[in-house]
Amino acid sequence: HPYVPAPARYDDMRYRRSGRSGVLLPEISLGLWHNFGDGHPLDVQRAVLRRAFDLGITHFDLANNYGPPYGSAEENFGRHLRADFRPYRDELFISTKAGYDMWPGPYGEWGSRKYLLASLDRSLSRMGLDYVDVFYSHRPDPDTPIEETMGALDTAVRSGKALYVGISNYSAEQTERAAAVLRELGTPLLIHQPRYSMLDRWVEDGLLDTLERAGAGCIAYSPLAQGLLTGRYLDGAVPADSRMAIGHFLKRDRLTPELLETLRGLNKIAQERGQSLAQLALAWILRDQRVTSVLIGASSVTQLEQNVAALDAPALTAEELAAIESLL
Ligand code: NDP
Repeated sequence: HPYVPAPARYDDMRYRRSGRSGVLLPEISLGLWHNFGDGHPLDVQRAVLRRAFDLGITHFDLANNYGPPYGSAEENFGRHLRADFRPYRDELFISTKAGYDMWPGPYGEWGSRKYLLASLDRSLSRMGLDYVDVFYSHRPDPDTPIEETMGALDTAVRSGKALYVGISNYSAEQTERAAAVLRELGTPLLIHQPRYSMLDRWVEDGLLDTLERAGAGCIAYSPLAQGLLTGRYLDGAVPADSRMAIGHFLKRDRLTPELLETLRGLNKIAQERGQSLAQLALAWILRDQRVTSVLIGASSVTQLEQNVAALDAPALTAEELAAIESLL
C-alpha cells in the first residue's frame, strides 16, 4: 500500500532545541543500529519507520557499519526512503557516522580525512541521498590530530554533503577541544551522541556541562541499556527473540542477581507511576533539559509505541527521583 503519513503526526510529539542551534529534535528519536540489517524482515522495518514518522519522530540515526552486514542498514533505509519517504525529505533529520572499522586496510576506520570523506560518499550512495543532516565522527581517534578529523567534518558541510556535524563517544575533554576547533572553522558542533542510561551515567560527570558551555546538544544512545531497562529480562530468563539471545553486543553475563534486583526495584517505581520500566528509563533521561533527545532502538511497532507513550506520563517528582537514585 502506498504510504500516506498521519496528518496529525506533529500534534503530540515534543521537540527540543539542540544546544544553541536552529535545530529541533523529537524527544524520542529512532536508531537503526539493530533491526534494520539484511536479516531483519523488510516489512517489519517498513512498519516501524512508518509508525515512527506518524508519531512525530523526524530523526533517524544511522552509521556506515549498521547492519549486519555493514552498510545494509543504510541500504535498507534507502529502500524505505525511496518507497515511502521521498516526498517528506525536508521533514526528516537523518544522520550517519564514520569511525569504526568499515573496510580493510589503513583507510577503513578511525578519524582520518581520507576515511571520513570516502565513507560519507559511500553512505550517501547507499541511502540514495544528496546530503545527510548530521555527519558524525563516530569515535575519537587517539592517533589523528583533532584538527584533521574536525577539518573533515567541516569539509563535509562546505561541500554540501552534510548540513551539521556531530561527535560520538568523545570524552568531556576531547569534546571541549573538538568544539573549539569546529568553532574556529566556522562549523559549530551541533550535537554529541554519548551512551547514557540509568545503568551508565558517565555523561553526568562533566560532559553535559561541557556541551552546555559549547552550545551543543546531546542525544543519548542505548537509553534502555540495549533492552536491560525494559520488561525483557525482568524474570531472569532470556527470551529467544531478544538481543541478548540473538546479538553479540548484549552479553548474558550482564544479568547478575544484583542487576536483576535493581531492575525489579526500578520496575516497581515504574508500576506505581502506571508506566513500564522502559518508559520510566526514558522519562528519567529526559528529566535533564540539556538532553535533546533519547535515541531508542525498537524491534517491533509495539515496542516503538510503548516507548513513545513514555512522553504521556507526568514528569518525575523529587520523591520518585530520590527513590530511583537510591537504587542506582
Ligand atoms: P536501546 O537501549 O533503546 O535498546 C533497544 C532494544 O531494546 C530494542 O532493540 C529491543 O531489543 C529492546 N526494547 C526497546 N523497547 C522495548 C520495549 N518497549 N519493551 C521491551 N524491549 C524493548 O537502544 P540501542 O542499543 O538499540 O541503541 C539505539 C540507537 O542508538 C542505535 O540504533 C544507534 O542509532 C545508536 N547507537 C549509537 C552508538 C554510537 O556509538 N554512537 C552505539 C550504540 C547505539 P530486542 O531486540 O530484545 O527486542
